[in-house]
Order: sequence, then C-alpha cells, then structure tokens
Amino acid sequence: MPTASQGGFVAGSMVTGNGRGGRGCRSRWRHPASDLFRRLRGLSWRFFTDGEIAMHLLREMLTYQRPARSPSERAFIRRFLDQVPGMVRDDFGNRWLRIGTRPTTLFCAHTDSVHTISGRQRLREDRRTRRFYKDDGRPLGADDATGCWLLLQLIAHRVPGLYVFHREEETGGDGSDWIARETPGVLAGIERAIAFDRRGTGDVITHQCRVRTCSTNFAQALAAQLGLGFAPCAEGVFTDTAHYAGLIPECTNLSIGYEHAHTGAEYQDYGFLEELLPALLRVDWAALPVARVCAPFSRWAEPGDRMTTADRLACLGSLPPAERLVAA
Ligand SMILES: [Zn+2]
Repeated sequence: MPTASQGGFVAGSMVTGNGRGGRGCRSRWRHPASDLFRRLRGLSWRFFTDGEIAMHLLREMLTYQRPARSPSERAFIRRFLDQVPGMVRDDFGNRWLRIGTRPTTLFCAHTDSVHTISGRQRLREDRRTRRFYKDDGRPLGADDATGCWLLLQLIAHRVPGLYVFHREEETGGDGSDWIARETPGVLAGIERAIAFDRRGTGDVITHQCRVRTCSTNFAQALAAQLGLGFAPCAEGVFTDTAHYAGLIPECTNLSIGYEHAHTGAEYQDYGFLEELLPALLRVDWAALPVARVCAPFSRWAEPGDRMTTADRLACLGSLPPAERLVAA
C-alpha cells in the first residue's frame, strides 16, 4: 500500500481505483462487490450473491474489537481497508481513497471503537428482528464498523467522493483534528461532509453539541432524497465532521441503524442497512444545496482544536438552551 508523502499528502497525489484510473479502472470494477470482496482474505466470497457477500463482510468486520491503536484495530484496517485498490494513508494513520477527479463530497467513518480490550469477539444474530448483537455485556462496536462497511459499499459501487476512514474518533476525534490542523488543503473543493456514525434510523444531523454544522436546506434536501423516514435532527453529539465545520460548508452525520452504542446492549439493525444502502446509492450528492457559510465549530477557537473526551463530557453537561447556540 502506498503511503502519503512527507507532511501529509495533497489531494492531487491520491489515486483512484486501481491506481491507473480511466477505463481500466472501470473494467476491474465490472462486478463491484465481488471484485472488491474477493480481495478480502478469508472470505468465501464466491459462494454468495453480492448482497450476501456484503452482509457476510459486515458480520466479519463486527468480530473485531478496536480500541484506538490496538493490535486488533490495526488488523481490522489491514484486512478490510488496506487491501482496497487506491487506499492511501496520511501521516496520522487515517485511510483515504478518492473516486472521481474532483469530488465535492466527503464520506467518512471511524476505525476505532470504545472497546477497552483488543481481540476478536463472538456475535449473536437474531434473524427475526434482523439484528446483530452480543451477550457478553460489552459493546458490539457497530459504532463505527457499520460506518466503515457503508463506505466500502459506496466505494465498491464507485460513487464519486473523497473517502476518509478516521482514526481515534472515540478518544476525541483526533484523526479529523489532525487533518483539519495539518492538512486542511486536502479538503479543498469539498462542499459536503457525510459521516456514517449516528444511532437510529432517521436522523440527518444539523447540529453537534448544539452547534450548527449543516443548513436546514441541505438536511431537508438530503432527507427527501433518502426517504425511509429521514428528517433533519438537531440533537447530534459529536463526530469527526464537527472538526470540518470551518472548512466544509455542509457537515452532517447520518443514522446507520445501530442503537445503544457504547453499552453492552448495543445492536445493529441490518435489515435497515438493506434499505439504507440502495437509498444512499440513489442520492444525487452534487445536487444537494450548499447554504451554510463555513464557520469553525464555535466551542473551540480554531477549526481543528482538539475535543477530548473530557471536553465532550463537559460540553454535554453544560449545554445552554439550543436557541442561544444556533449559529450560521
Ligand atoms: Zn462513532
């Protein structure tokens, strides 16, 4: 896998698809899901239809507990991300992939989980409710393995975009903090940042910690395109896209069907994903309105200022009424 150039890379240095781009790239993706997943060692991909491969992939991804920088988080990245043609890393360790020559949409998720121990874990599946869950009292980690899985699906279907798999979100958004501080130029030309890191099944997040990160116009238009009961929601907490609020006009976070994240009761509604993925593939991202004026996430002095777990808890514990904080 190529590594980024010294001091972080610029957007122009990233490669698309198999690194050659153009028609050769497209031909190698003739069967998108199969072509991608056959590269994932240990998966019996050829016995499955594409949809079944995709669900098998999610099941496999969920078996990794992923404390930030742990051996099993690194194994997860090696197995599921670094084998994807065109994937590069920056100097922090975030993984990137660009599809299209000048994408205007950033899609992101994070590789780490709130687990405290490294290693694999055993899943349970309820086929009646179509849920993955566990019964060992520890989190499932669908937050945010499912977000990473959705990014891989969009990549397999060649949806134009700048894809970022952030490191260390759960410890304060350190991977996105690093990008906003050290290599903000890689986000030039990006008009919207979409995180897949929200509980539930219907939220287009407009505010994080009560600070506006995307316009109502944008959220309504995206919700209308998605259908499935999606609607704007101002109750977001925090994810990596908050760190881009001063650099990218429309920054949101979408529900991806998990509940009770960070607890032993966490589960993933995979039936919802079977509806969400086709809806995401239908969205005309470039047609979404861009209405918000970039403004740094206002609880911090600079766009990239670090939000530690302690900051986040302090923020949540001292929230003034929403109307006093709604900006931009
Ligand atoms: Zn998360």
